[in-house]
Amino acid sequence: MTESAAGQGTPPRGLSRRQFLALTGTGVGAVMFTGCQPPRHELQAQSRVLLAEDVLSAYENWYATACRGCDAACGTIVRVIDGRARKAEGTPDHPVNQGKLCARGQAAVQEQYHPDRLQGPLARTGERGGGFAPISWDQALDQLVERLRGVVGGPSGRLALLTRALSGHGALLLDRFAGAAGAQWLTLDLFGEAPLRQAVSDLLGLPRLPHFDIANARYVLSFGANFLDTWLAPVQYGVQYGRFRQGDYGVQTFAPRQGRPRGYLVHVEPRFSGTAANADEWLPVRPGSEGLLALSVAQVILSEGLARGGAAGLSAGALAANAPERVADATGVAADRIRTLARDFATRQPSLALGGGLAGAHTNGTASLRAILALNLLVGAVGRPGGILPNPAPPLPDLPARTAPSRLADWQALVASLRGGQSPVVMVAGANPVHGLPAALGFRDALLQAPFVVSFSSFLDETTLLADLVLPSHLPLEDWGSAVPDPAPGNAVVTVQQPVVQPLYDTRGFGDVLLAVAGGLGGPLQAALPWPTFEALLREGARALQARGGGNVEAPDFERFWVQLLQQGGWWTTSPPTAAGASSPGAVPPEMAAAQFTGAPADYPYHLVVFPHNTLGHGEGAHLPWLQATPDPTTTVVWQTWVEVNPRLAERLGLAEGDVVAIESPNGRVEVPVYVHPAAPPDVLALPLGQGHTAYGRWARGRGANPLDLLAPLADEATGALAYGATRVRLAPTGRRVAVPKFEGTVPAYQLPDDEVVKVTREA
Ligand code: SF4
Repeated sequence: MTESAAGQGTPPRGLSRRQFLALTGTGVGAVMFTGCQPPRHELQAQSRVLLAEDVLSAYENWYATACRGCDAACGTIVRVIDGRARKAEGTPDHPVNQGKLCARGQAAVQEQYHPDRLQGPLARTGERGGGFAPISWDQALDQLVERLRGVVGGPSGRLALLTRALSGHGALLLDRFAGAAGAQWLTLDLFGEAPLRQAVSDLLGLPRLPHFDIANARYVLSFGANFLDTWLAPVQYGVQYGRFRQGDYGVQTFAPRQGRPRGYLVHVEPRFSGTAANADEWLPVRPGSEGLLALSVAQVILSEGLARGGAAGLSAGALAANAPERVADATGVAADRIRTLARDFATRQPSLALGGGLAGAHTNGTASLRAILALNLLVGAVGRPGGILPNPAPPLPDLPARTAPSRLADWQALVASLRGGQSPVVMVAGANPVHGLPAALGFRDALLQAPFVVSFSSFLDETTLLADLVLPSHLPLEDWGSAVPDPAPGNAVVTVQQPVVQPLYDTRGFGDVLLAVAGGLGGPLQAALPWPTFEALLREGARALQARGGGNVEAPDFERFWVQLLQQGGWWTTSPPTAAGASSPGAVPPEMAAAQFTGAPADYPYHLVVFPHNTLGHGEGAHLPWLQATPDPTTTVVWQTWVEVNPRLAERLGLAEGDVVAIESPNGRVEVPVYVHPAAPPDVLALPLGQGHTAYGRWARGRGANPLDLLAPLADEATGALAYGATRVRLAPTGRRVAVPKFEGTVPAYQLPDDEVVKVTREA
C-alpha cells in the first residue's frame, strides 16, 4: 500500500472542489489546523544543505487531532510532510493542554512507523501462543460474526468486551454495542482513581471530577497526587503548576491579577516522586496513613479556630483522638510539623488540598480521600478560584466522559466465568490484561480456557499472542475518534480526532469493525448502531454541537462547522468555571480505619509501592524506544525496572547500585537491580510499572520486571478498586549484578568497590 497522499476525498455538498481543497489542505483528506500559528521554532528556515539525504522536500501541513497517549484528552497538532507524520506538538488553543504535549504524546509519531506493527488480519494456526497466518478482512469478519451469532442474544455475559478506559463517541459506541449484545464490558483502568471519584461524589456531591484550580492557588497540599508525573491529566496540571509557581508573573487563567505571590507546594507521599521533587516540602508519610494525617490537620484547624468554611460534620472534640501528638507515630510525621502544616494551609489563602494516587491505593482509600478533600471545605476552597471548581457536564447529554474503571471483583468474576466456560467469546481492544492485571488474579490461565479470543491490537502483545483472531486497528494518527476529558479543565470539552495520514497497512478502525459486525448480525444490534461508519457517528455528534452552540466553533452551515471543528481539534466552551453544580457537602467520620496489608511484618518487613512510570505508564508505552529512553524524573534510570532502596538499608544489607535482588510478596516474586535512593524511606521499596513484557515488540520484550506480579488481590473497601498499596514484601540478594542505565552519576559505579559505590550514589 502506498504511503503517498492519495485519496483527496470528495467535496461535501455545498462546497466546490476548490473551496474544499482550500479548507482541507493538500493531501490526506485531513483538515488542516488553523487555530493558531505553528510553533515559532518551526517557522525558522532550515538550510537545505543541512538536511539528511533521505528527507524529502515538500509542503508541510499541520493537522489538529486528539492525543491518545493517555486518557487526559489533550489536543495535538501533527506536522505532515509527503504524507508522513513527522512531529507532534500541543494544540495551542486547546483548553486541556494549552499548547503543551508530554513525551507520550510526542511518541505517537514513532508508534505510527513502528517496525513491529501488525500489517493485516491474522488467524491462529496452532496452539495458543503459537503461530498466526494472514487472512483477509472478509474472512476474518465472517469468522467473528459467526462466533458472535452463537452468543449475542443469549444469556447476558457470554461475550466479554475488554477495553481501556474510553470516553466520547468511542464510549458511546461500545456502550450501545455491549447493551444490545448483552456483553459484559470491563475497562482495564486499575489506576483510574475510583476512590477519588467516589470521595468527590460522597463529600462534594459532584457527579464527576472537579477542576482543581492549582494555577490560582497560593498554597497546595497534595496527598499522593503525583500530578506532575502521571496523575489524571499531567500536562493540564503541569501548565497550571507553572502558573502557580510564577504567581502574578505568570499568565493566569480564571482569577484577576491581585499581586498574588508564587505558590507554595507541600507534597505528602511515601515515595519521592517527581511532584515531591518539585515541592517546597515533601512529607514521606507512612503508607496508608494519609487520611489519618488529614484528620489531624483538620483537628488543628478546628481546635485553633482557623476554619473558614463548612466542617463536613467534623468538630475539634470529635477529632480529639487525631490530635497531632496522638497520630505522629502512626503517620511518621512529627506533631509540630502537623501543626505548622495546618496553620499554613488555613492561613495562606487561597489554599487547595489534593488527594489521589498512593493516598487512595489502600483498603481505606476512599475514606482517606474523603478526609483529605474535607480540608477544602474547612478553608472554604470549594467553589472559589484557587480551590475546587465543579466541572460542567460533557457538552452533549449522550456523550460519556471517561468510563468507570472496573472493580477488582469484576475481574475476579470474569476469571471465574472464563474458567467455567460461561464466556465463550472474548473481544479485547486497547487493553493488554495479560500484562496489565495482577498475576494473582490468574487471568492468563483463565483466558486460555476461552474458546474464542479476538484481539484488536496493532501489536503482538501478551494478550494478543493468546488470541484466535487478530484484527489490527488503525493507530490514532490514522483514525477518527473523540475524547471527553475527565477531569475537564473547567470548560465543557470534546477533543476531536481525525486521521492525519493514510493507514500505513491493511488495518481498520475499531469502531468501523464494530459497526460492520453489527451490520452482519442484524437485528437489535444493527438497530442500536445505525451509523454506516464511525465518521458518520462523529458527524452526527458535530451536528448536535452546532445546534447546542456556545462553543469555540460557530459557522453558518454544517459543512463549514465540521471543517472548522476539525481545524480547531475540538469543541469547548470558553466561559470560566463557576461554583454551579456543588451540592450540600457530605460528612466525614472522625475516625479512620487502619489500612490492611497482606504479608506479616515479621516475614515481609517492607511496604511495596508500585507507581506508573512517567513515560511507559502501566506498560502501554514500553514498545517505543523514545519512551524507554526518557529518563525517570528522579532516578534518571532508562530501559530498566529498578527498586528504590534507602541508603542505610542498603548499607545494612551490603547492597550497592546494580545488585540484583529478589522482591518477594505472598503472591509473587520479581528480580530487579537496586537503585540506592537517598530519599527512599527505610521501610518502603518502590518499583515502577511498565516493564516485564514477554511480548509487545522488540523494544519491550524481555526487559525488566512487572511489579504487578507481586500485588495482593486486596481492594478499597468502599469502591472495590484494587488496593495497589496493600502489599508487603521482603528483599533478598541474588548475588548477581548489572549496570543500571541512567543519566545521572556518570561515574560507572558498578565498576567500583562496594563502599565507593554507596558513596558515589549518595553524593549524586
Ligand atoms: S497527558 Fe496524555 S493526552 Fe496529554 S499529551 Fe500526555 S499522553 Fe497525550
